[in-house]
Amino acid sequence: MPSQRPEEVAAYRINVNGIVQGVGYRPFVYNIANTLRLNGFVLNSGNGVLIEVEGRPEDCLRFIERLRVEKPPRAVVKTFSCVQITPRGYRGFRVEQTLSEEVETLCPPDVAVCNDCLNELFNPEDRRHLYPFINCINCGPRFTILEKLPYDRVNTSMKKFKMCSDCEKEYSEPSNRRFKAEPNACSRCGPTARLYHQGRPIRVENPISEAARLINRGFIVAVKGYGGFHLACDATSGSSVTELRRRKRRGNKPFAIMVKSVEEAERIVELNDSEKEWLTHYSAPIILAKKKEPNPVVEQVAPGMRYLGVFLPYTPIHHILMRNVDPPAIVLTSGNISEEPIVYRDSEAFEKFKDMADYILTYNRRIVNFADDSVGFVQDGRLRLLRRSRGFVPEPVEVEIKVDGVLAMGADLNNTFALAKKSRVFMSQYMGDLENMFIRKRYLEAIRNMQRLLNLKYSRIAHDLHPAYYSTQIGFSLEGEKTAVQHHYAHVLSAMAENSILGLDALGIAFDGTGYGEDGSLWGSEFIVVRRGEYVRRGHFKYVPMPGGEKAITEPARMAFSYLYDALGEDALKIEIGLSDNVKTVLKRMIDRRINTPMTCGLGRMFDAVSALLGICLTRTFEGEPAVMLEMAAGEVNGESYPFKIMGEEEYVVDTAPIIRSIVEDLENRTSVKTISRRFHETIAKITVELADTIRLEEGVDIIVLTGGVFQNRILSSRVKHLAEEHGLKTFFNNIVPTNDGGISLGQAVASSLMEEK
Ligand code: ZN
Ligand code: ZN
Ligand code: FE
Repeated sequence: MPSQRPEEVAAYRINVNGIVQGVGYRPFVYNIANTLRLNGFVLNSGNGVLIEVEGRPEDCLRFIERLRVEKPPRAVVKTFSCVQITPRGYRGFRVEQTLSEEVETLCPPDVAVCNDCLNELFNPEDRRHLYPFINCINCGPRFTILEKLPYDRVNTSMKKFKMCSDCEKEYSEPSNRRFKAEPNACSRCGPTARLYHQGRPIRVENPISEAARLINRGFIVAVKGYGGFHLACDATSGSSVTELRRRKRRGNKPFAIMVKSVEEAERIVELNDSEKEWLTHYSAPIILAKKKEPNPVVEQVAPGMRYLGVFLPYTPIHHILMRNVDPPAIVLTSGNISEEPIVYRDSEAFEKFKDMADYILTYNRRIVNFADDSVGFVQDGRLRLLRRSRGFVPEPVEVEIKVDGVLAMGADLNNTFALAKKSRVFMSQYMGDLENMFIRKRYLEAIRNMQRLLNLKYSRIAHDLHPAYYSTQIGFSLEGEKTAVQHHYAHVLSAMAENSILGLDALGIAFDGTGYGEDGSLWGSEFIVVRRGEYVRRGHFKYVPMPGGEKAITEPARMAFSYLYDALGEDALKIEIGLSDNVKTVLKRMIDRRINTPMTCGLGRMFDAVSALLGICLTRTFEGEPAVMLEMAAGEVNGESYPFKIMGEEEYVVDTAPIIRSIVEDLENRTSVKTISRRFHETIAKITVELADTIRLEEGVDIIVLTGGVFQNRILSSRVKHLAEEHGLKTFFNNIVPTNDGGISLGQAVASSLMEEK
């Protein structure tokens, strides 16, 4: 008998880490292994995807090569390691059960329904025709249904639905698009949608098209999405929108609108390529884009705004709804009473929406983790998120330093907290303002949930320097070694961390409302030089009194008086700012005697003051309103600005009095608000760059990092960037991490780790 030479066999063990679970990575590996006729297995382990392959050496190498260069659309490969091992004699290639050891892999964020699923959804021949919970390995809810890692059906709120035989077949067939698609379901076995009126279900064949019909008729309908409920109404109906504002007790804060398609969106707002890209991105954020005139969307949706927040349908429910509504856009705003957290539990919805929604469209799958919509705008082709939540969370921010074992509490407004492990900072979903008692309660719950969900532990707690912040006090009630981090330093580090420049020296410029300073006064126009783990304050705007403290924030006319008094003395009393002489005299006395009048250099307060001085916003109805409206009022900048003076040496101080005096002069000369506002914006941009340039010469730092809530202002951001680049300064902004206080948690986590390093 001729002896047959045994075929040469090689074997490898491969470990892939990153966002590789719940994104179709295992079927992808399976398909490549099968084409190359390799044996072995692939599985999700606590430490990424583990693969063993064996077969002809050249085929193994081809396999490794393909894994190195190819990946499924939403996977993010962070590390890839490969070792040669002894062949074990596997037969066939199998997808194995998940190993439940220490779970460390990342949880994917929620993904907008994909085009393949959409085609099936609207195909009358398909078995999932109009089934509102259609999903596949490439799309569907993730974070919002996940109880703990690994991302397997038993660990999600889909566990109560037992798959029918057809779904089961798809789920277990490695070449199927629904292989291991954890929320896989159909109308026979999965969740169902229901419409309610006054707490009772309405029997209709299609509750979603019925809800659409009700919106067409002017009703307000609560609709359950991925991360919570929305309130929906016709965005082209003045009476519906006004009624929604009244019921939500919402002042002038803009509502977002959902539009049917990008084409429809283009009829309502101007969109460039990157804006379109983000609108259609699988994270489906709300994008603030320039409103077209005339516009079918009524003014009451976003009063006085030049921008509209638009987004596209991202759940199958939204798609069915939008196909059935008549108007091109509907208001779709977080389901809550003003300042309260978003409602995401059904029981809560029935309670809270009793007087707010005429109808409730819900479904019987539990939302485990709430998540508001993310909101951003595009600047110079890059997304800048103002709220980082659904579609992004819980993807971590990778930083260049070790940030292990930290819980960062964040700040009180637009709160997010963060948990850090190794070099990853997991920022939480958007919480809201901790001044609200319900939000504080949810904040504590969310901290506990996220620890369990991602299996993260902490031994250190980073918090704001402000002793009176709720976030600080709550941090103190938890166990762990505490580190206080100055607010503006945290802002600067957040931008440096996400731009991966923590190792460089930089001039951080943080402009915001107010933050607690090292000297106990309120800072907010900081020029700080940051050198690995340390910062020096080199400049700021002049301090002015805040008569009435917090009250001066909600009544910007008070700030207008304060700036006027600083610039003009007694003459300030003569200037009309919507306050009676009596009130002005009281304010003057408060300032003179420093009664309940802290000092602040927060630039946000100066924007508030100018806004009130121009008669744009005398009392605010939402955070940032005076500054936003001042920006909206500005005409196209043309380089004109007001005189200013920079004083001091070691610590520079920008004197604001000449600016205020010039504005008053302009007002007396009946210069238009449009002109004054643009001159003011240009002035601040020039000051920023001139002072940055001065500090650069002394410190040898030519990188500037621009952060803080004031940089949500697009005119200021783009003018500063432009002027700085003319001076040869390199600029960095926040992008995926909010420039407002929503980014503070990242900066705190980094700051406390830098301190630890020393
Ligand atoms: Zn899909
Ligand atoms: Zn089924
Ligand atoms: Fe801030």
